Amino acid sequence: MEILQLGHELLHKKAEPVKTIGPEYQKIAADLVEALHAGKGIGLAGPQIGRMERIFAVHIEGDVPRIFINPSIIETSKEMAKYEEGCLSIPGLYADVMRPQTIKVQAWNENGKPFNLEVSGLLARVILHEYDHLEGILFTDRLSEPKRNRIIEKYTKQTTRKKT
Ligand code: ZN
Repeated sequence: MEILQLGHELLHKKAEPVKTIGPEYQKIAADLVEALHAGKGIGLAGPQIGRMERIFAVHIEGDVPRIFINPSIIETSKEMAKYEEGCLSIPGLYADVMRPQTIKVQAWNENGKPFNLEVSGLLARVILHEYDHLEGILFTDRLSEPKRNRIIEKYTKQTTRKKT
């Protein structure tokens, strides 16, 4: 499965809510998890595979794979944390991003079952990163403009060199 890369317009578009979570979402969920494992990532959102729907998969070490459909971030802690992030759509680029330490999220899983989750640390961070993808936001959009320009320029040079 192809993962869209930085520069693709769909990565900057807002995804649509899923209307009905039918049985086909078990397959879509399995495809997302497979692609994130193949890419050695910890999260992958629908728009990254060109599916403009509000669905993402998260799988961090020591946890089970989790699917979020039509998620809402219902609470974020005032306490913030800084941590280095990467993205399967921007391979090889990493930068520190500030995000809330703890969040409460509500969503549906691939079987159409609603759930609530209160999580901290890495899991909260990945959920927020993937949620951003549904809004058309990349982690590089959360950096200061000079920093963003600097690292994207470097990244573009590297990828251009690789292609030639
Ligand atoms: Zn990402």
